[in-house]
Amino acid sequence: DRLPYDILPKRHMLVIINPASGRRRAHEIFKEQVVPLLEEGEITWEVVLSKEKNFVYNYIRSVDLSVFNNIVSVSGDGLVYEMVNGLLARSDWREAIKIPVGVIPGGSGNGLAFSLNEALGEPTVLDCVTSSVLNVIKGDVQKKHIILLQTVDDSVCSLSSFLWGVIADIVLDSEVLRFLGEVRYGLTGTFKSLSPSKYKGRLSFLRATEENRVKMARARKATADRLNHNQFSNNKLTQYLYEDQSFIGSTSCHNNPLLHSTKFNDLKENHASSSGSLWKTETSLLPTWDQHVSEDWETIEGEFYVIGCSYVSRLSTYLALSPSAKFDDDTIWLILVRGHVPRVLVMHFLIAMRSGKHVNCSFVDMIPILAFRLIPFEKKGGFAVDGEYMECRPVQGEILPFSMEILSR
Ligand code: ADP
Ligand code: MG
Repeated sequence: DRLPYDILPKRHMLVIINPASGRRRAHEIFKEQVVPLLEEGEITWEVVLSKEKNFVYNYIRSVDLSVFNNIVSVSGDGLVYEMVNGLLARSDWREAIKIPVGVIPGGSGNGLAFSLNEALGEPTVLDCVTSSVLNVIKGDVQKKHIILLQTVDDSVCSLSSFLWGVIADIVLDSEVLRFLGEVRYGLTGTFKSLSPSKYKGRLSFLRATEENRVKMARARKATADRLNHNQFSNNKLTQYLYEDQSFIGSTSCHNNPLLHSTKFNDLKENHASSSGSLWKTETSLLPTWDQHVSEDWETIEGEFYVIGCSYVSRLSTYLALSPSAKFDDDTIWLILVRGHVPRVLVMHFLIAMRSGKHVNCSFVDMIPILAFRLIPFEKKGGFAVDGEYMECRPVQGEILPFSMEILSR
């Protein structure tokens, strides 16, 4: 089928590229494989090259987004993570987070791009770039849930995974093998599984049963109502935060609200400062740090080889951690390998995970959950959040009540 380019409205995109992603080929991938297709699609763009870690986070926080219909990344998940955290750090984050985002794989951990294409029945590893560019050009959108990760003094949002234990070690320690691209995960995995470390902690979680989903919906509403009464006269604001975003209009990116938005300006004038980071603090299911988790949560204490929370179907070629994960099903997949299993099974797990077959292993727990709290008993290893390092410390997470939009077809 020929793409009906002529019926697509013109679009202007902000393209962010991480030249350090993967095998350092992201910029070439853009010039060689992306530009020719975009040109045919009547799309114009401006390129920003990431200069260093956190460059894109700071850039997105403050750039004038009103001239862009979309933001497209050519990178691994790490740059998308920076971009989305940047969007949510803006005073106009409610509108900014609705800008449809395109993901083109240029890194070694391309969980978002691979998982999107996997769900569309398109190739993941083989020519995922072309398929991803077509998603960008076609310009329909899919909602993607965002997970809030909260520590005692900070919060970030995460799009693909939160890991502690052997897989986090693989992702983080393979940084030095960056020049190998994705193979770094396979090699480091084999090496790590020869003598895998155990990690001690207390893990609590709320299972994603139908009953608990109803509770989550109620808790979200209660939070919205509380915000309504206490802080704002204008309940439109909490609608933005806590309700379905369908009233924004069409699911097409051709309706970028930033381009023709009175709502945006209302919000900016009335509430910008008071509502800056509500999404960080006004949680639905998470207790405050001085509270215990409530009685309907389950708790496991002990040693683990793997504690993983994954919310996309594939993190990389070597890491299909939660094959049933969907972009927008309000589910976090908890993956556990407990410390009492024979060590050789860790190797078995890592190999089976390449094709997602670990889900059938009796020694692996795969639990759909809505929220979790992890208290490490020792400061050991680091967490990997969307492939990025985070210091090991108490952390809890839940699914945010609003989502972002990913360009798709
Ligand atoms: P990969 O999939 O290879 O891990 P990512 O896009 O996830 O690629 O990015 C990896 C890391 O590179 C992220 O931590 C990001 O902040 C960092 N980064 C961004 N720009 C640069 C740069 N110019 N030089 C080095 N690192 C960078
Ligand atoms: Mg990465």
